[in-house]
Amino acid sequence: MTAVPFIDLGRRQAPLQGHLAATFERIARSGAFTLGAELEEFEHAFAQFCETSHCVGVSDGTEALRLALLALGAGPGREVVTVPSTFIATLEAIAATGARPVLVDIEPSTRCMDPRRLADAVGPDTAAVVPVHLYGHLAPMTEIAAACGGVPLLEDAAQAHGARLGGARAGSLGAAAAFSFYPTKNLGALGDGGAVVTGDAELAATVRSLRHHGATPADANEHIRRGATGRLDNLQAAFLQLKLPHLDGWNEERRSAAALYREALAGLPVEVPAEDGVFHLFAIEVERRDEVRAALTAAGIGTAVHYPRPAHLNPAWAELGSEGDFPAAERLAARTLSLPMFPGIEEREIEQVAQALAAACE
Ligand SMILES: *Cc1c(COP(=O)(O)O)cnc(C)c1O
Repeated sequence: MTAVPFIDLGRRQAPLQGHLAATFERIARSGAFTLGAELEEFEHAFAQFCETSHCVGVSDGTEALRLALLALGAGPGREVVTVPSTFIATLEAIAATGARPVLVDIEPSTRCMDPRRLADAVGPDTAAVVPVHLYGHLAPMTEIAAACGGVPLLEDAAQAHGARLGGARAGSLGAAAAFSFYPTKNLGALGDGGAVVTGDAELAATVRSLRHHGATPADANEHIRRGATGRLDNLQAAFLQLKLPHLDGWNEERRSAAALYREALAGLPVEVPAEDGVFHLFAIEVERRDEVRAALTAAGIGTAVHYPRPAHLNPAWAELGSEGDFPAAERLAARTLSLPMFPGIEEREIEQVAQALAAACE
């Protein structure tokens, strides 16, 4: 039986290979590698894609979160609220600003921040609330905003490029949003990259300054705040610009694959994800997850677990809580299983996964 890979980026990148190589040649010869025209062009295009007005390209998604949080006023003596069900980078970015991370549990059906739990978590010290669009499904931003009483929302949109909520794009749903262009994300660079998008010109200007040593637009050697080396480089920006026009089509392929999965998995003792979003991952929930996963591995099916531990049950983050504090997040971590999902996955592969899963669940 042929193996089904968990992810195969090559299938949709292959037709772009010649363009990517030519772009590398051109930029390598130009000698201009940072803060150039390619970066500006991509920033313009990605802001447009997100249907918002500003984009600042940064080095990676974690830095996008950190710089956006700093610009929103996070720092020592302040708190930032997020969820335990996320990639650990969300917590790292918060802690790196000096602010104290505060967790609220997820809502089991959306697997995103539960708005009903925010009243207890948001207070006078809260600098920002960071909903995570987990697996490419959008957090209920309207309900979250209503529960936050004017505290700015920063979307962790690292898994949700192009997703829509009531017509509005991920990236346009809060005060600002942080994206990652890590190679496996829905829009991936050939290396690391990230972006902050926002409709707020002042916020964008602050992030722009922070990513380049706190300089001013007029004078790169006048440091008006303490910043960092946090830029997206011209080469990665140009690669992303080549891929961006394909993103909506690739997301549509993910959505079609998800629809095929729903049909193929009907009747199995597994929970399938909601129909909305852009399926960065197709994460089912299943009892005896590790056994089921081992059976799939034996059948040649690639899988992954995002994430086996909620944030607070990692040794480095014990201060965030103990077992039992966030039951919905803990239950998701124990049961979640990511099945093969990528643009270009074939119907016969999805059927093969479903058959192997049916056998594993017996
Ligand atoms: C990938 C990811 C990040 C971090 O992005 P990097 O580019 O890897 O730094 C942050 N949050 C979430 C939810 C992610 O999936």
